[in-house]
Amino acid sequence: MATRLYTHPIFLEHITPPGHPERPDRLRAIERVLDDEAFVTLDRVQAPEGDEATILYAHPPEFVDRVRAAIPDTGIARIDADTTASPKSWQAAVTAIGAANAAVDDVFTGRADNVFVAARPPGHHAEKTTSMGFCLFNTAAIAARYAQKNHGVDRVAVVDWDVHHGNGTQDIFWGDPSVLYCSTHQMPLYPGTGAVSETGAGNIVNAPLAPQSGSDAFRDAFLSRILPALDNFAPDLIIISAGFDAHHRDPLAEINLTEDDFDWATGQLLERAGRHSGNRLVSLLEGGYDLQGLAFSVAAHVGRLMKG
Ligand SMILES: [Zn+2]
Repeated sequence: MATRLYTHPIFLEHITPPGHPERPDRLRAIERVLDDEAFVTLDRVQAPEGDEATILYAHPPEFVDRVRAAIPDTGIARIDADTTASPKSWQAAVTAIGAANAAVDDVFTGRADNVFVAARPPGHHAEKTTSMGFCLFNTAAIAARYAQKNHGVDRVAVVDWDVHHGNGTQDIFWGDPSVLYCSTHQMPLYPGTGAVSETGAGNIVNAPLAPQSGSDAFRDAFLSRILPALDNFAPDLIIISAGFDAHHRDPLAEINLTEDDFDWATGQLLERAGRHSGNRLVSLLEGGYDLQGLAFSVAAHVGRLMKG
């Protein structure tokens, strides 16, 4: 199995205010942990320049113009209470999209079996017409549409294990049975969506976890809800919205996973990718705000991707 890693220095130049949890040091922590000799065979590639036109796969042009206009020339502009932009944020967001789309190309052309994209800003809270929750554009949703438009596939699954519900991805694919969206997340927690009753066109599978849940509840949600939905859907591609803020060290939530749980969940999704998707699996970094918890979790996740 060949695992590719996309990064880019521009991702460090999306600057958030002092004390903001979604900070450039997150990517430095990931870079340090992946420097270990265990990852020497990882196929490291600099993310390509993104194609702005692909943003329109998930967002209307008026919204894209609004985000572009919100990017400041200097300093930091506030988009909402949690979400900000700095002068290089546009280029960072577009490069994150470019990396995700390139990862889709890689798994369809056989340049890689699976790919991890270590990018920021994250994306899963960005709705069709709203940037929120540290996210400007919905990178995972754009990549799913990119696969459908450019690789002729019908069915894409997005599995989101970030501790927050991916309201944006749910919003974009609500009522679209060609994309399955499955999420485990703490509830109640920001952004407040993600109840079991939110099912879209039968293509939305939410598996909320009570605060203080741990490994057992998380794995049970996978075994009883997420994996059966994937088997039933038989996707041509699996995209992971890989947030690591359900780690027990994370300051933003109260779920008590360890890196072993991310290793396990990665293995389960690799197995489904083998069964349904010709091994095609693309993983996109979302949240994860404790630097040690994030680094150890990414190491477990990428290590498992490399084992295949
Ligand atoms: Zn999160």
